[in-house]
Amino acid sequence: MSINSIWVYAEGSDVPTALTLEMLTKARELSSDVCAIVGGDAAAMAGALGAHGVSKVYATGDLGGSLPGIPVASALAALIDGGTSPDAIFFGQTYEARDVASRLSVMLDQPLVTNNTDARVDGDTLVCDEPVFGGTKTLSTAFRNEGVKLALFRPKSFEPAETGGGAAEVVSIDVPESGEAKIVARHVEERSGPQLDVAPIVVAGGRGMGSVENFAMVEELSSLLNAAPGASRAIVDAGWVPYAYQVGQTGKVVKPDVYIACGISGATQHLVGMKGSKTIIAINKDEEAPIFGVADLGIVGDINKVMPALIEAIKSAS
Ligand SMILES: Cc1cc2nc3c(=O)[nH]c(=O)nc-3n(C[C@H](O)[C@H](O)[C@H](O)COP(=O)(O)OP(=O)(O)OC[C@H]3O[C@@H](n4cnc5c(N)ncnc54)[C@H](O)[C@@H]3O)c2cc1C
Repeated sequence: MSINSIWVYAEGSDVPTALTLEMLTKARELSSDVCAIVGGDAAAMAGALGAHGVSKVYATGDLGGSLPGIPVASALAALIDGGTSPDAIFFGQTYEARDVASRLSVMLDQPLVTNNTDARVDGDTLVCDEPVFGGTKTLSTAFRNEGVKLALFRPKSFEPAETGGGAAEVVSIDVPESGEAKIVARHVEERSGPQLDVAPIVVAGGRGMGSVENFAMVEELSSLLNAAPGASRAIVDAGWVPYAYQVGQTGKVVKPDVYIACGISGATQHLVGMKGSKTIIAINKDEEAPIFGVADLGIVGDINKVMPALIEAIKSAS
């Protein structure tokens, strides 16, 4: 048992997602032989994947409108059972990749270790780290199985870096007859401004905003700063904003240059999703609020006074 080759399940349409590039960078650190898997046509992505150290892309080709879970897992299981197997496969913690990875785990009868934020090779096996208890403890899991090691990684766990390599070779793989799950409708979430998980500035609001009407101040400040608006779970659960806004353990993990927390207490489940931000600014009327424990700049005050003043100051400066 040793870790010589790692495949990464690549997501994206024309360009790989940030999470794909993050995992490729980690895979390269652990292994000199890094390949990618694409559920679909890989031609558009081969260049970017090669530039991130991928030598070969195993691609299923067009999936004919099926969700990737069943066909991609079946294609990979057939490939691996046929003797073409890496030592480990990395998947992102996304709906699509979880679907593929869990089905593959069952098909191959190999364990799947989920929710990881780091990995290393220890001796002859792979060890994955998962934050638990709201990120206060780290659980390390060493694979002891002989077969392929399947692991899921959370976004923003690694810094993506290019290698400058040329386009990866695309290898077509067969998709066995295995059934399909058809996509019957698509709902595109309405959004303006930058996307929460990649925005360089995030302005997030919590229960301390007081009301859904007051959340307009978070939206306004976001738009003035070209930032993405975010939220604590408390106000997502209250129905003020959609789940797509949620930052934290059960929401998105963000690492912007600047994170402005408005009326957010700083529960561990929230901190786990934003404490990696470069600069954290917190506005809270309670000087004992835990958010100040991670803040670089803290404003103790009422958001009803601080935020309008901040918005006015930015408007008059621009
Ligand atoms: C399994 C599990 C998963 C969870 N996942 C998440 C997650 O992903 N993300 C998440 O955010 N939470 C999550 N939570 C919930 C988390 O524990 C907290 O309940 C939540 O983060 C609190 O949200 P909040 O800070 O907005 O509200 P509160 O904790 O109620 O804090 C409101 C803050 O606003 C301040 N405030 C009040 N009025 C004003 C004012 N006028 N001006 C200035 N400040 C004011 C208060 O001093 C207080 O600090 C999870 C919980 C569990 C159990």
